[in-house]
Amino acid sequence: MDYGTLVDYHLHTSRCGHAAGRPEDYAGAAWRLGFREIGFSDHFPLLHIQDPTLSMGWEEFPLYVREVEEARALFPGMRIRLGAEVDYLPQTVSRLRETLGSYPLDYVMGSLHFVDGWGFDDPRYLEGYEHRDLYQLWSRYFDLLGEAAESGLFDILAHPDLIKKFGYRPHQEVTGLYEGCLDRVARAGLALEVSTAGLRKPVGEIYPGEGFLRLCRERDIPVTLGSDAHHPSEVGKDFAMAVELLRRVGYEELALFDGRERSTLRLRA
Ligand code: ZN
Ligand code: FE
Ligand code: FE
Repeated sequence: MDYGTLVDYHLHTSRCGHAAGRPEDYAGAAWRLGFREIGFSDHFPLLHIQDPTLSMGWEEFPLYVREVEEARALFPGMRIRLGAEVDYLPQTVSRLRETLGSYPLDYVMGSLHFVDGWGFDDPRYLEGYEHRDLYQLWSRYFDLLGEAAESGLFDILAHPDLIKKFGYRPHQEVTGLYEGCLDRVARAGLALEVSTAGLRKPVGEIYPGEGFLRLCRERDIPVTLGSDAHHPSEVGKDFAMAVELLRRVGYEELALFDGRERSTLRLRA
């Protein structure tokens, strides 16, 4: 695997309260694998709840920015992008609009981990799946994802079909939900992330799945690549599988970001 021709844009750090390692540890792991570009996207402070195991606090974000900048100085041979993984909640949009511009971010990655207040991807709240109609839940999730795309806050949407994480899927056909959401993403002009993290979760598949990714390709939606590493050993994890999937559905390039400007990187044959 030639990591020098790829990028990993989804790296966390111990700042978020549930990952291990400092930026320099992730950067070191990436450098040893041969990466020439990576990006940090640690959890931006949550605005609707306080939970130090889910995200850093406000006072910490500038420290995170500084630590990523310090890692840049330690690895001058590698481009290190500064991003953030930001939760989309309808009620926090205006606060995010006011605050995100104050940091020198290369990209902002929007994420959906909450549907109407429920942290559906948090193993602590798994019982929430038992008393919900799964089709309605998926429908609401993809509607919110479309809303996130249209908010204009984000450059990328992370792990787009995260709602499948624990393997709870509706019996009904969901292609229509994907299409409705992806039409909105395509119109809004942002990128989606292909994430290998799903391979390490109960669902055991890449986010998004192949059918979903084909619909992205049909709409020319740009994609980024990320491991969602919460430990330095996860940097670049399973990227061979992700590249194989990307090629199978016809993707020939990845999206890169610098100062919130998008460019493209050709996937090498
Ligand atoms: Zn996390
Ligand atoms: Fe996430
Ligand atoms: Fe993440």
